[in-house]
Amino acid sequence: MVRAMTNYLPSVGMEVHAELLTRSKMFCRCAVAFGGEPNTRICPVCMGLPGALPVPNRRAIEMVIRTALALNCKIAYNSVFHRKNYFYPDLPKGFQVSQYGETNPIGYHGFIEIPDGKGGLKQISIRRVHLEEDTGKLMHLPSGGSGIDYNRAGVPLMEVVSGFPPDIHHSDEAKEYLVQLRLLLLYLGVCDGKLEQGSMRCEPNISVAPEGSEKLGTKTELKNLNSFRSVQLGVQFEVRRQIAVYEGGGTVAQETRGWNDGNETSYLMRTKESEQDYRYFPCPDLAPMAFSEEEIERMRSELPELPMAKLHRYQSELQLNDKDARRLVEDRHWAAYFEECIQHGGDPKQVCNWMISEFAKSLNETGQVISDHAKDDDPERDVTKVSPVHLVELTQLVTSGKISSRTAKDIFAEVFQSGAMPSRLAENSQQISDGDQIVGWVRQVMDANGDAVAKYRGGQQNVIGFLVGQVMKSSQGRANPQLVQEIMKKELEG
Ligand SMILES: [Zn+2]
Repeated sequence: MVRAMTNYLPSVGMEVHAELLTRSKMFCRCAVAFGGEPNTRICPVCMGLPGALPVPNRRAIEMVIRTALALNCKIAYNSVFHRKNYFYPDLPKGFQVSQYGETNPIGYHGFIEIPDGKGGLKQISIRRVHLEEDTGKLMHLPSGGSGIDYNRAGVPLMEVVSGFPPDIHHSDEAKEYLVQLRLLLLYLGVCDGKLEQGSMRCEPNISVAPEGSEKLGTKTELKNLNSFRSVQLGVQFEVRRQIAVYEGGGTVAQETRGWNDGNETSYLMRTKESEQDYRYFPCPDLAPMAFSEEEIERMRSELPELPMAKLHRYQSELQLNDKDARRLVEDRHWAAYFEECIQHGGDPKQVCNWMISEFAKSLNETGQVISDHAKDDDPERDVTKVSPVHLVELTQLVTSGKISSRTAKDIFAEVFQSGAMPSRLAENSQQISDGDQIVGWVRQVMDANGDAVAKYRGGQQNVIGFLVGQVMKSSQGRANPQLVQEIMKKELEG
């Protein structure tokens, strides 16, 4: 029996939390860092002790404004902090400072563009970008029971929420959204984007509904996704699971589910019986924020070139193909290095080719990073000795025909090792095509190898290979092998 199959359209809303790269917490001067002994970065303010008064972190506020501007949002010139009231031990104050309302968050009603996988771009709307504080971490103790580490409590946290109704209808789009949003935050320097360490956390909500239906299905929220892959797999799994529930005649319950990376399935964490009432109200300890238009416009003008604009420029102005341009842009340190090469007169295509092939391979093999800036992100690694000046010089030696691409690879390997200038290495390795010099070597070799010469003249012509080899040896590989072969033959037969 064939049953008519319903086509389902998935809808995915994305909630992303990003810890801001400030030195101190949101409302106190405790340091922001990852790891360390539990409860060593706390004070009366972030512990919510009575009488302690919060002072907002100006840098964190600016970071959210910059992000909101980069996401094409409207800015709330007057924006207030709210208390989100709830009792749970991860926040000692009994409330979390956050921002409530549709047009109160620092940024609202924006969009981000993501590649649509068909060579074009798709706009994903952004509902809001707001500022709040992170919570502490509950931990299971080896001795049994639970403990709480408040080092993370009060760390500035930005929340970016995608638009409603959702524009994302596929797990690939959900992943691409996160990829592009993370890249944007990295370019802005507001978050280190470490999904696996939780400095950036993504909680998609997922529903499916019959195609053409005006109503969205019941959504589930997915947690514990700590890589791009788990976001993609998690959304895929939820979509399939919900379709199976509907196809089986059941109903999908509104619930929060966790992702298990090990067996690639989701599991029930808690059911949402009703929306919790947080009784948001403006925080009486914190003055409303007010921004002037000049301030906002100054920040807008100071935004760096953003990844999508860069990608477009690399293709239209520098004539790189989509794949190459993407490869450079997806790592801001690569992009910066590449641009420095262009400033030093490098040819975009040549530089790019070297970067993504030979250079990338060598960096990979040695675990080195491309620049001092990249080292800031990865302090344990060494910075490569190959500077943009080195790389440009090498490509120019090839273009001008001074060295072959084969020799260039050898020279590159040496530059990578020693940091010597390619032009100096090329001097030593340039081919010798001076006939007189070669004749000299050829005669020396013939004198020293009378047996071989006799054999050749006796009809064993293949010994010429040996003799040519001897000349190459005496020239330390620099003689032009074709010319050596020619001259050798002439001398042997002459
Ligand atoms: Zn503190």
